[in-house]
Amino acid sequence: MIPESFIERLKDACDIEQTISYYVPLKRHGRLLKGLCPFHSEKTPSFTVYPDGQQHFYCFGCQKGGDVITFIREIEHLEYVEAVRLLAQRAGLPMPEDVEDDGTSRLKARILELNRTAARFFHQCLIDERGRDARVYLASRGLTKKTVRNFGLGYCPDRWDALAQYLASKGFTQEEMLAAAVVSRGSRGLYDQFRGRVIFPIIDLRGNVVGFGGRSLSDRGPKYLNSGDTPVFKKSRNLYALNFAKNSGSDKLLLVEGYMDVISLHQAGFTNAVATLGTALTPDQARLISQYAKGVVIAYDSDGAGQNAARRAINLFSQLEVAVTVLDMQGAKDPDEYIKTFGAHRFQTLMDTGKSALRFEIDKLKSARDMETPEGKTAFLNDFCRLMADVSSDIQRDVYLSEIARELDVDKERLRATTEAIRKRRAASAKRRQVHNLKPFVQDNPAGKSLAVKPEELGAAVAERSLIAMLMQNPDYYDDIRSKLTDEDFVSADHAAIFRAICAQLEQNRIPDPIYLSAYLSNAQMGILSLIMATGKEVTYKREQLDEFIQAIKQKPVSREEIAQLSPEEAYQRALENRKRRFSP
Ligand SMILES: [Zn+2]
Repeated sequence: MIPESFIERLKDACDIEQTISYYVPLKRHGRLLKGLCPFHSEKTPSFTVYPDGQQHFYCFGCQKGGDVITFIREIEHLEYVEAVRLLAQRAGLPMPEDVEDDGTSRLKARILELNRTAARFFHQCLIDERGRDARVYLASRGLTKKTVRNFGLGYCPDRWDALAQYLASKGFTQEEMLAAAVVSRGSRGLYDQFRGRVIFPIIDLRGNVVGFGGRSLSDRGPKYLNSGDTPVFKKSRNLYALNFAKNSGSDKLLLVEGYMDVISLHQAGFTNAVATLGTALTPDQARLISQYAKGVVIAYDSDGAGQNAARRAINLFSQLEVAVTVLDMQGAKDPDEYIKTFGAHRFQTLMDTGKSALRFEIDKLKSARDMETPEGKTAFLNDFCRLMADVSSDIQRDVYLSEIARELDVDKERLRATTEAIRKRRAASAKRRQVHNLKPFVQDNPAGKSLAVKPEELGAAVAERSLIAMLMQNPDYYDDIRSKLTDEDFVSADHAAIFRAICAQLEQNRIPDPIYLSAYLSNAQMGILSLIMATGKEVTYKREQLDEFIQAIKQKPVSREEIAQLSPEEAYQRALENRKRRFSP
């Protein structure tokens, strides 16, 4: 555990406004700061920072919230201790020496060392007599020795446990091998995960080998196999070859489907190529790309699956202000084949003149309809206007409205009017949602959804939140509350955990502050606490209400038989009314 005296110094050194501004542009709104949430996509800011007093943040759109440490955990995907370490580093505070972090850091360091050792072993196997078949395969794909060396490619012999034995001889334990996911445990003991496969080491931005991809040379098993997630590797947050591509000097990244595509593109001079690791593009990967490039060129396979994946990718990028171009590789199934057939020069031309993402979408909509019939044409135009309504740039909208009006010989102004009508409707409903989101928590929970309690217990759960807000505001009520209530009385396990953490602070005569609580609560619980504080600030509680809250928590008020007759919404309304009747100041 990190000593609280250190957290106290960290709190002084890491102002929440400054820390968050590093990632999110914030604008002042009275005593609050607002910005576009970095954790979900939005066009109107619901991400709120409360800079004074109990420094915390809360997003009314995605319910993430907490203190400055929780923020760093969420945005940098770090464990608690690592987040503290990062903040301390930035603030120039030396970490206390004796920090026990349940061994995670040590295990991570061992896994990285193991991966490096394994990568060297695989590479050696590829270049000596064991790797003959693999070398034949790579040569057949046109890879030069230099490329093979650059990418550190390797081969895992088609034996039971060649790697496991090698790693054991280098002092790695079975547990470490299993944690690194390079072996599995079978009835005959450990066996190599990547037997008989060509190996593609996955290297992160710091140059660590974090995982492996393997391509089978036989018909056994899946053609490609990737490392599972380990303490040092999350598939959904890494991109293959980004370590090279980030230095390509191009402000665009070229996104392709697989390892071999990336490698042959790099060999052909397109060193800005990256690939996802056997999965569809994830929001984390899209964000990663947006950090390193202004634009992305998607060169997915021309088959149906590839084209669908391209559409999903376009959607993710459109929320991140990354310009997207989609390559239409006619006459080839993937970039590798395109370059082999038509040459690198033509591929470059294709990239320079590639279709914009919008044109790609429009053509997709078109091909889904029968454009020969009036019905099909009308349906397409409706789809088209809905798509245009999503485009935020006026100029871009105008360009495509003109283009389609011309192509289909229809009145451009009619298309514009339809598009504008859809935009107005959407803006109005977005505004309604926004207003709704900003109401205090007693009103913003549709029955049972985020409270994770039964509808009939909602009244109690609401009272729990009120009680926690009251206790945060009035620590002097603690003795009174403690004598009447324990965390076991709570219906929500999250509320109980928050209550326990606050009590632990108060027991040490410390004013509860989110930055001390975050060591004991999950990120989700910090989100709830942050919501309670954000909304609780608007309410002044009176001491008389305390007993009412406690009573509501203990008696779980509405009868179950009565509730059984109601829909969840009615039950929720009922709970709200009860609460208003009993708790209104
Ligand atoms: Zn959010």
